[in-house]
Amino acid sequence: MPDLFDKCYNFTKAKEVQEMGYYPYFMPIASGPSAEVWIGDKQLIMIGSNNYLGLTQDPRIKKAAIEAVEKYGSGCTGSRFLNGTLPLHVELEEKLAEFMQREAALVFSTGFQTNLGTISTVVGKDDIIFADRNNHASIVDGCRLSFGRVVKFKHNDMRDLERLLKASKDRGKLIVADGVFSMEGNLIKLPRLVELAQEFGARVMIDEAHSIGVFGEHGRGTAEHFGLEDKVDIVMGTFSKSFASLGGFIAAEAPVIDYIKHHARALIFSASMPPAAVASVIAALEIIQKEPERREKLWQNVRKMKAAFDELGFDTCGSESPVIPIVVGEMMDTFVFWKKLFDHGVYTNPAVPPAVPQGRSLIRTSYMATHTEEELNKVLDVFEKLGKEFGLI
Ligand code: PMP
Repeated sequence: MPDLFDKCYNFTKAKEVQEMGYYPYFMPIASGPSAEVWIGDKQLIMIGSNNYLGLTQDPRIKKAAIEAVEKYGSGCTGSRFLNGTLPLHVELEEKLAEFMQREAALVFSTGFQTNLGTISTVVGKDDIIFADRNNHASIVDGCRLSFGRVVKFKHNDMRDLERLLKASKDRGKLIVADGVFSMEGNLIKLPRLVELAQEFGARVMIDEAHSIGVFGEHGRGTAEHFGLEDKVDIVMGTFSKSFASLGGFIAAEAPVIDYIKHHARALIFSASMPPAAVASVIAALEIIQKEPERREKLWQNVRKMKAAFDELGFDTCGSESPVIPIVVGEMMDTFVFWKKLFDHGVYTNPAVPPAVPQGRSLIRTSYMATHTEEELNKVLDVFEKLGKEFGLI
């Protein structure tokens, strides 16, 4: 008789890698996220976070969080729908709608739940979703949870999308994709995607998790970057990256937000963002709007690193964003490369299958506005030394 837990007892992969000394996951960072971090007694340069604007240690944001805890306490103990709405949630939604230049916005407790709740709610049983193959897991799960049909198009392949749209019947259609793909760091081909959406009567949802605060003149993401905001129907964002906190949101036409607000199970049956998180996001939003120089500094750092990695001869996967992957190839080599980077004081994230295709395991690096020249030069020296040792350059 099979035991439900057989799969758990037989799962040895993590232990094997731990025993070899190459296990990179669940490592407690003792110092909190910053450009430099402490792990145990080791100081490392952090190029493995999504803290793009470096706001996690901003005193104004910390102060806002502390004041919110003092005023409202530690948690809301209920969902937005019932007892979990504070004036702060409403203020944040109004400010987000204004910033994103949309009729309305709605906040969820995480970015993951935002995609889960939104997609599974707007797509009904008679509808169809066209999803990029490399979409984030939260989009994939949102699609799985909806009662509609899901078809996947080849990564960023607009011809494939066109072929699938042509073959689809008369249904409500949603095209959904990441604005910036979180492992490869490349951008969705939005100009062609929205043309196809118009031609075939589809609605468009773009996940701007890695692009709000980063792309566009005002930091509204890839849709602003391409000048196509009016062609994107639902914009999704998270607060766990440039906003330096936790939570997520969508912005769209008021009736769409109102429908999702009254139907999304991930919103209605889950407790709301706690006061400290909401207040810190309000403070971060103000900084994002008032201090565009942070975005400029981030891009200076990104341009420097991308040019240097390309010059050294690394495969950077065609990255166009602050996420710059360095392809190593085989999984085990990637873990060894990661460990050597760690030993040399550089914190990165290894990405291995199924997160990336077989043979394309990589080291995901990402940059912040607050990295100094000195820190970035040290990172490049270490990559050059190890890249040569591993025959990557
Ligand atoms: N979408 C994308 C593209 C992401 O990268 C992430 C987080 N890695 C999410 C959604 C989920 O966001 P959160 O971490 O806020 O749940």
